[in-house]
Amino acid sequence: MNPFPPYSSVAESKLAGRYITNTHIEPFLSDYNHSIIGHSTSGLPIYRIRIGTGNTKVLMWSQMHGNESTTTKSLFDLLRFLNTNPDWLDNLQLSIIPILNPDGAKAYTRINANQVDLNRDAIDLSQIESRVLREEFDQFSPDFAFNLHDQRTIFGVNGKPATVSLLAPAFDFDRNYNPSRTLAAQLASTIFEGLQPLIRSQIGRFDDSFNPNCVGDAFQSAGVPTLLIEAGHYPDDYSREKTREYVFYAYILALEAIACSTFGNLSIYHSIPENQKIFFDFLLRDVSFIENGSQQRGDVGLQYQEVLQNDSIAFQAVFAAAGDLSHCHGHIEPNCEKLNTIDFKIEESAQNVLNTLIL
Ligand SMILES: [Zn+2]
Repeated sequence: MNPFPPYSSVAESKLAGRYITNTHIEPFLSDYNHSIIGHSTSGLPIYRIRIGTGNTKVLMWSQMHGNESTTTKSLFDLLRFLNTNPDWLDNLQLSIIPILNPDGAKAYTRINANQVDLNRDAIDLSQIESRVLREEFDQFSPDFAFNLHDQRTIFGVNGKPATVSLLAPAFDFDRNYNPSRTLAAQLASTIFEGLQPLIRSQIGRFDDSFNPNCVGDAFQSAGVPTLLIEAGHYPDDYSREKTREYVFYAYILALEAIACSTFGNLSIYHSIPENQKIFFDFLLRDVSFIENGSQQRGDVGLQYQEVLQNDSIAFQAVFAAAGDLSHCHGHIEPNCEKLNTIDFKIEESAQNVLNTLIL
């Protein structure tokens, strides 16, 4: 490939923004071989798309956490690409669940309608959405699995935002490597190397602590190479449209590697720097602030909360930390010279502070 397809010609551009629900994807389903493989806690359909006739089977699911929609948008970009570039589909058979947690997607929450985090339910399978995914895993019997998520803006790597993070989840507490985890890590190496020319130093490796209740860890334990892809922040891209493009390229790199059986080197995976929690959405450096009644001088970090309002996502800033934050970064670091003393007790003052700075 040369090296990537022209993105604008394949992007499903009508699917945009952070708020993506069943209602948003339903108009596109008729373009594909799709079916309903179950219903959510509150009765919404859980859709599955199948594409390809090859022997190597790949399972991909997104929005297990309802408010993590970037990888879903990229999946529809991928499907459009495959519809017009079907070469790999002689080798591959894809099963795609674009929104595993439609109730969470509708409410813009991580959890499902029973307030359960589906990524902590792999053993208990207490939730219907968890059982739908497990049944698809058991019946489809994939050779590779992709667990697709968004990560918060707090994550950085090399002092830059972690735009894409990768993880070959562990299958045991000692975090050993068996053949399936090794293959997943090699797949991550392929993606890491392929994305280097585009977002060098903005690709991180996620924490690999083993948790058997996490779905990726559970599928890895079942012997299926499983890769976690986390879509993260790209500068000035809170709608995550730029990140979505990079995730699409990550899919292309991974599927090309699987279709052609050419995988990266395990040592490259280990060289991927680990994610760090080092970012705030805004970092106000060296300002006066009142905390617990006493006036102090230091740095103040503000973080956006994402709030569903009128079928779109509003970003509302709140105070997140204060003190010596010299080791941290802000996606935006405004000039604070003329800022008055910040009082943490004043309700909604974080947004007022930002308004004062006239960003
Ligand atoms: Zn997630």
